[in-house]
Amino acid sequence: MTERGRPRAESARPSGNARALTGLLAARGPMSRADLARAAGLSRSAVSNLVLALLADGAVVETAQRGRPHKGGSGRPPVLVALSVPDGCVAGVDVGHAHVRVALADRSGTVLVEEQAGTQADLDGPQTLDLCADMVRSALRAAGRERSELAAVGLCVPAPVDRRSARISTGILPGWRGLVPSEELGRRLDVEVHADNDANLGALAESRHGAARDRGDLVYVKLSTGVGAGIVLGGRLHRGATGLAGEIGHVQVGEDGHVCRCGNRGCLETLVALPHLLAVLQPAYDETLTTERLRALDEAGDPAVRRVLTDAGRTLGRALADLGNSLNPAMVVVGGALGACGSVVAGVRDAIDRYAQPATAAALEVRPGHLGDRAEVVGALTLAVLRTAAAGAAG
Ligand SMILES: [Zn+2]
Repeated sequence: MTERGRPRAESARPSGNARALTGLLAARGPMSRADLARAAGLSRSAVSNLVLALLADGAVVETAQRGRPHKGGSGRPPVLVALSVPDGCVAGVDVGHAHVRVALADRSGTVLVEEQAGTQADLDGPQTLDLCADMVRSALRAAGRERSELAAVGLCVPAPVDRRSARISTGILPGWRGLVPSEELGRRLDVEVHADNDANLGALAESRHGAARDRGDLVYVKLSTGVGAGIVLGGRLHRGATGLAGEIGHVQVGEDGHVCRCGNRGCLETLVALPHLLAVLQPAYDETLTTERLRALDEAGDPAVRRVLTDAGRTLGRALADLGNSLNPAMVVVGGALGACGSVVAGVRDAIDRYAQPATAAALEVRPGHLGDRAEVVGALTLAVLRTAAAGAAG
């Protein structure tokens, strides 16, 4: 989407059908009127009228780019309709346990600048948020944009954010406890900030721009230093009553297992998260094992790495099978540092086939994430785009 349209008049409230069309354009990018009619289940003439009204409002534009000719049509490539890209930009900020990544994008989510810095983010929330604000200012300078052009920021944090208070209330990120990260970063940058956790934003990113495009029901599981899941139901992120939905890492898999950072013992995370897997494998290797090295050894067919990663995938898949029985998702996307490991994905598949109801397992695809370690920053950008979009689509 490269063309800019007039901002939509505040009074022009779109109908449900018009919102369905703008929602489709937000999720899939430019589409022809015929494709819109098919996807929305509306008649061609209804879609033509709705598009006319949306063009008049400035909510959509016709693009210079053309689609492929339709079978049985006039043979001329159809004109594509796209959401207008309002002026200004948005930023996505991803705070991981050991890094901060910032991306600046136009209002359609097309990335202009992306930067990353290493930091011990867990230790000190306020100091990390100072760094985030500095990096956003630096990205604005690099893109030649003014601070006043920044419409909103999406912020990813590696801990659940309470839905009611926007506060980080769990103890798993000690230097952040009690902080309201959206407020803190918002004050530093004088802009509206929307915060969510890493698994939710990974799910949003993979469902809009990655492995699960066009899938309305999916579970994204992030397997890294911790383990968490983001759940998309009916095309919308399911955050739960207080924002704790998808905390699959703390499903209990052993009564007398290791003590977990959440205070319980025998949590799934203590068996399959990266630190545990590295600790299990390290004694058998002379070299220092890292995430990158694990991935390379898995790809090269190293038997011990394959065995340990497949077992971890199976343990994870056992918990996902139960979740699958309850939610009946179309896809499980395995993301995070180990998401791209073939053995992990194969282990997850194996356990789902074994433990989920056969019909549920048959309807469920298991795929590695497409966005790799960019999933969270893309999700943060997507959140900012959705929250500022005239369409007001789900986020
Ligand atoms: Zn736990």
